[in-house]
Amino acid sequence: MKLAVFIERDGVLNKVRIERQHQVSPLTLEEFHVHTEAAPLLQKLTAIGLVIVATTNQPGLSRGYQNRRELDRMHDQLRRLLPLDDILVCPHDETDRCPCRKPKPGLLVEAAFKWKLDLDRSFVISDKWQDAEAARTAGCTSLLLNSPWHGAVHRDFVLPDLSTIVDKILHLQTAARAMVA
Ligand SMILES: [Zn+2]
Repeated sequence: MKLAVFIERDGVLNKVRIERQHQVSPLTLEEFHVHTEAAPLLQKLTAIGLVIVATTNQPGLSRGYQNRRELDRMHDQLRRLLPLDDILVCPHDETDRCPCRKPKPGLLVEAAFKWKLDLDRSFVISDKWQDAEAARTAGCTSLLLNSPWHGAVHRDFVLPDLSTIVDKILHLQTAARAMVA
């Protein structure tokens, strides 16, 4: 079985606007600014065989203010600029009560089925509590960037930037392999 690193899209892989202490997702390709400096960092994870999956809640699809074709264009660009194996989207609104809207773990479970992943040994990177909660439910290790969006849920590590998080994952993987050997 393979291991994955799940990465929250908004605020980690692309910039977001902050309005009244909330993140506002970009809705058009023009507004979509990818953190290209993440590419060499993610490459280090790909190099040791980890599957890289971006995850995102986009309720605008169900509420009607996010156009699906525009989102596809944004995600085409995201794949061009960053070494991602997959991008999984929850298109639902809170009121849809779907199993995939984070903090529920549905996107992680879907990816595990599709990519034959061992979730217990996989990782989640985010700046938000919803991903830490999904990670906890699915059995993944969560690594949060410092941010005002942590809430009070369990998370395994809080670190200052993506570079430190990637190094931490590499370190944890080396330690795990040494134990198996
Ligand atoms: Zn959903």
